[in-house]
Amino acid sequence: MDTEVLVVGAGPTGLTLAHELRLAGVSAVLVDKLAQRSTLSKAGGVQSRTQEAFDQRGLLEPLLATGNFPIGTAHFAGITLPLTRERHRHPWRSIPQVAIEGFLEEHLAARGIPVRRDHELIGVAQDGDGVTATFANGGVVRSRYLVAADGGRSTVRSLLGAEFPGRPGTMTTVAADVRLGGEDLAMTHARSADGHWVSVFPLGTDPQGRPLRRLSLGGPGRSLPREAPVTEDEIRDGLRAVFGSRVRLLDLRYARRITNAARQAARYRHGRVFLAGDAAHVHLPIGAQGMNTGIQDALNLGWKLGAAVHGWAPEHLLDTYHAERHPVAAAVLRNVQAQSLLMDQQGTGDPDLVAAKELFAALTHLPAVQYHLDDMLSGMGIRYPMPGAEDHPSVGLPAPDHDLGPLRSHKLLRRGRGVLIDPADRFAKLAALWPGRVDRAGRGAEAEPMLIRPDGYVCWAGNPDDLEPALGHWFGEPQ
Ligand SMILES: Cc1cc2nc3c(=O)[nH]c(=O)nc-3n(C[C@H](O)[C@H](O)[C@H](O)COP(=O)(O)OP(=O)(O)OC[C@H]3O[C@@H](n4cnc5c(N)ncnc54)[C@H](O)[C@@H]3O)c2cc1C
Repeated sequence: MDTEVLVVGAGPTGLTLAHELRLAGVSAVLVDKLAQRSTLSKAGGVQSRTQEAFDQRGLLEPLLATGNFPIGTAHFAGITLPLTRERHRHPWRSIPQVAIEGFLEEHLAARGIPVRRDHELIGVAQDGDGVTATFANGGVVRSRYLVAADGGRSTVRSLLGAEFPGRPGTMTTVAADVRLGGEDLAMTHARSADGHWVSVFPLGTDPQGRPLRRLSLGGPGRSLPREAPVTEDEIRDGLRAVFGSRVRLLDLRYARRITNAARQAARYRHGRVFLAGDAAHVHLPIGAQGMNTGIQDALNLGWKLGAAVHGWAPEHLLDTYHAERHPVAAAVLRNVQAQSLLMDQQGTGDPDLVAAKELFAALTHLPAVQYHLDDMLSGMGIRYPMPGAEDHPSVGLPAPDHDLGPLRSHKLLRRGRGVLIDPADRFAKLAALWPGRVDRAGRGAEAEPMLIRPDGYVCWAGNPDDLEPALGHWFGEPQ
């Protein structure tokens, strides 16, 4: 073997995965076909759970120190959800994808995992022991596992012949990174009476420190073929249709057309090959979910691959990746479909849709509705199916951040191991049977006893008799 795990694609998913593998003490090679990192952003919105997970790894603070990343307000179908700002320690924040990629790439390079660029994967073959990947530059890498984080048009997925069912695109909208003049539009979803619409949110600053905005626009007659170049005139016209002369285009840095294709891999695991991020699911970028879902795929898979490489993964562990993550992206695809419909992105002006959106907007004044939508979008409501989830309200959910006196429990997750919160020091002997896999926070901890997986999800709480089976289920045979 050249390496334990080959990660194909150094987007946010591949970079996060490589970080998780390093933390798990597993050798990893990270390759990308691009000769240089892109300087243009796709994603900009980072949800609460993604920020929390970065914080649990000690990455959030240094990431935020690399720029000015404003907190914004989450939205569903353009209807803002202001109550969500107060709900989480890390509310929705605008952090451009390039900033995340740049930060993670440098962080990894400094720790001995540089991205091997100019490595376009063109072949993949697996056998009982490992996977052989071949590259356009003539290189060959043999690994025990391979993770395809090579984006929506994944080469690995095609080479595997993996089923990718769903719907082809039926329309396009425009996404552009711009500087705007005139009225300040930090975060806006606006539409004209005749169905043209523009969404704007902050996207960091340009090298001169001037604010950049991510603009999306569409409406009647604006759904052009995906390959048709986006022109400045088209963007000016879209802005004028909604804002008149109140807003001007100053600088167009990047633009592309986006389709509403919605597809999801039928299986995330193909023997020793795993699909993650956009390679496993694609959808319209509405509500800031694609990159967040990919990063969370990586967090779910990383420690499990680590366990498999170290030889202590229980038989079922690698399969829980599909079992846990497939339903999450399926739910994202569905909420994106609903948002796209309510937003009437083609500007049909269908009165039935207008009525439905009015009613929906009225409902979102109810806190319970905002919280429900926020649970869905922020990632904080993701609950994995696992043993004990029926018996205890916390099992399967992201772990709360317990105050443990000098420490908070989320900090204990920095090592990428399981954490047993054991305030009464009841389980010290038991936890000692899983050394190096589970850390125990004992006496002094004013918290409910619980077992937390390395990815930050509660996997046991409540009945003490269930702790030992839970340790075995997630952390393998005791030593
Ligand atoms: C306009 C727009 C706005 C968006 N806004 C948001 C948002 O606000 N929030 C959000 O969460 N998501 C958003 N998204 C979605 C987000 O950008 C994607 O979900 C995210 O990029 C997926 O990350 P990834 O690492 O899985 O794939 P990618 O970012 O596509 O990375 C894949 C990598 O694999 C490499 N690669 C491809 N093929 C090969 C090969 N054969 N060999 C080697 N390397 C290869 C590519 O060069 C690339 O670097 C947006 C998308 C768009 C287009």
